[in-house]
Amino acid sequence: MANSEKNDTLILGAGAAGLSAAIELWKADAPFTVVEKETQVGGLARTLELGEFRTDIGPHRFFSRNQYLYSFIEDVLGEEWIPVERFTRFFIQGKFFLYPVQLGDVVKKLGVVKSTRVLLDYLCEVAKRPFHRHDPRNFEEYVIRNFGRSLAELNMLNYTEKIWGLPCSELSTDWAMQRIKGLSFVAAVKSAIFKAKQGPKTLVDRFFYPEYGAGYLYEQIQNKISQDRDVHLGSLVKSIDHDGSSVTRVRMEVDGEEFVMDPAWVISTIPITDVLNFLNPSPPQDVIDAAAQLKWRGIVHLFLKIDKPQVTRDQWMYFPDTEIPFGRVSEMKNFSPRMSPADKTSLLVEYFVWDGDEVWNATTAELFERSIEWLDRFGFVKREEVIDCHSYRIRKAYPVYDIGYEERLGVIKDYLAGFQNFFYAGRGARFKYTNQDHSLEMGIMAAKSIIDGKRYNIDEAGSEKEYMESYPLQGAGKPSS
Ligand SMILES: Cc1cc2nc3c(=O)[nH]c(=O)nc-3n(C[C@H](O)[C@H](O)[C@H](O)COP(=O)(O)OP(=O)(O)OC[C@H]3O[C@@H](n4cnc5c(N)ncnc54)[C@H](O)[C@@H]3O)c2cc1C
Repeated sequence: MANSEKNDTLILGAGAAGLSAAIELWKADAPFTVVEKETQVGGLARTLELGEFRTDIGPHRFFSRNQYLYSFIEDVLGEEWIPVERFTRFFIQGKFFLYPVQLGDVVKKLGVVKSTRVLLDYLCEVAKRPFHRHDPRNFEEYVIRNFGRSLAELNMLNYTEKIWGLPCSELSTDWAMQRIKGLSFVAAVKSAIFKAKQGPKTLVDRFFYPEYGAGYLYEQIQNKISQDRDVHLGSLVKSIDHDGSSVTRVRMEVDGEEFVMDPAWVISTIPITDVLNFLNPSPPQDVIDAAAQLKWRGIVHLFLKIDKPQVTRDQWMYFPDTEIPFGRVSEMKNFSPRMSPADKTSLLVEYFVWDGDEVWNATTAELFERSIEWLDRFGFVKREEVIDCHSYRIRKAYPVYDIGYEERLGVIKDYLAGFQNFFYAGRGARFKYTNQDHSLEMGIMAAKSIIDGKRYNIDEAGSEKEYMESYPLQGAGKPSS
C-alpha cells in the first residue's frame, strides 16, 4: 500500500545534489520527500560533531564560477559563510612548496639546476608538438605533453597514482580534462609570477566556507525544508520497481518500518551502481556487466584531537611522495576557528584506499601508529599531544576514470535514459568527479526539470564552459574574490 500522493517527488540521498533539488522544489512549493541512509545530512560534504570539535570528512573548500550558487548559498547561510585566504602546500622530496606555486619559492626550494631542467623539459615537449600523430591516450601522456616530464614527475604523476591506486598510464585523459583543463605550464608560471587572482580553477587563492563546517550548509537546508516536508534519515531504499519506461513504486525502510511510495518523479543522488542493484526487474545483463566494471576509490580518515592551539597555517597539505603512507593532512581550525576549541586543534589525515585493502581494514589504533611517526617527523604533533582519535571510512568517495570507463558508463546511461520519470544527479549518481558546486547544480537542474516541465541536460554541470555560457542559471551573487 503506497503512502504518498502521486504527484510527489522522491529524492534519494540528502547530500549536496539531493538537498539542492529539495530546496529548489521547496521554493517552488512542490511536494517531495527525502530519504537518506545516514543519520545526518550532507553526504560526502557532511560535518561530524565530535564533542567540542567539528570536522568535514575530507576538507571542503567552496569555489565556483557560477554566481547563482553564491546567491543560493548566501540565501541559506547569510553571514555564516566566511571568506578564507587559502594557504596550502605540497611536501615534495623533503621540502614544503607553496601551492598555488610561487616562482621564487619553487626556484629557492628546487634549486637552479632542477628548475632549469623543469623549464627545458617543458620546452622540449613544446618542440615535439607538431610531430604528435595522436592526442594523448592517457593521463600520463597528457601531463607530460602539457607540463614536461620533470614537472609531471615532481608532483602530478605520483600524487595522482596515490589517489587512484592505478598507474597514470591506465587513467583516462578525462581526469586531466576535468581537473586540470585550463591549467598549463604557462598559466602556472604566469600565476607564480603575478599571483593572479582570477586564474584557472586550481589556482584560486581564496574560497568560502560555512562557519561550522561544509556540512552546515546542508544542515541549514534541512532545517528549512523539514518545517513542512519529510526528510527521513537513517532510512534505506529496498527496491525501485519499474515497468520499463517509468519508476512505478519505491520500497524503503523508514524508522525501521516498511515505507512505500508511488512517486510521480524520482531524483536519485545515490551511487549509480547502487541504483541499478535496486531496480526491479533487474537491468539487462550488459548493463549489469558494465556496472560491475566501474571502479570506486575509497577514503579512510584518521581524525586527531590535539592539545595545542595550532599546528600549521595550512588548511591542507598534500603528500605525493610514495614512502609517506597518507595523501593529505588538513587542519580544520584553519578553515574556521569554530571547528575546534580555542586552546586546541585537530588534524585530519587522509588515506586513499581500495575497499577491503589493508588500510581499509586497519583499526583506529593501527591507523594512528601508521601516521604518528610521520606527523611527529614533520614537527606537527607528538604522540603525547594527541588527546583522542577517530577513524572514518567512505567506500565510494571517488569514481575512477580508468581507461574505458566512458563506454561502460555510456551503456548504463543509455539504459537509464529509458525512464521518463527518473533523474539521477550528483557525483556518485552520475559517476562524475564533481565538487559540491557541480552537485548543487545537478540537483537544481533535476528540480528545475520537474518545475519547468522540460529536461535540462544534467551532464552539462561540471563542463564549465558549456554551462556557464548556456545553462539558464544566471544571477547576481557574491563575487568570488
Ligand atoms: C575527500 C573529499 C574531499 C572533497 N573536497 C571537496 C572540496 O574541497 N570542495 C568541494 O566543493 N567538493 C569537494 N568534494 C566533493 C564533494 O564532497 C561532492 O562533490 C559532493 O558533496 C557530492 O554531493 P552529492 O550529493 O552529489 O553526493 P553525496 O554527497 O555522495 O550524496 C549522496 C547521498 O546519498 C546517500 N545514500 C547513498 N545510498 C543511499 C541509499 N541506498 N538510500 C538512501 N540514501 C543513500 C548518501 O548517504 C549521501 O548522503 C570532496 C569529496 C571528497 C570525497
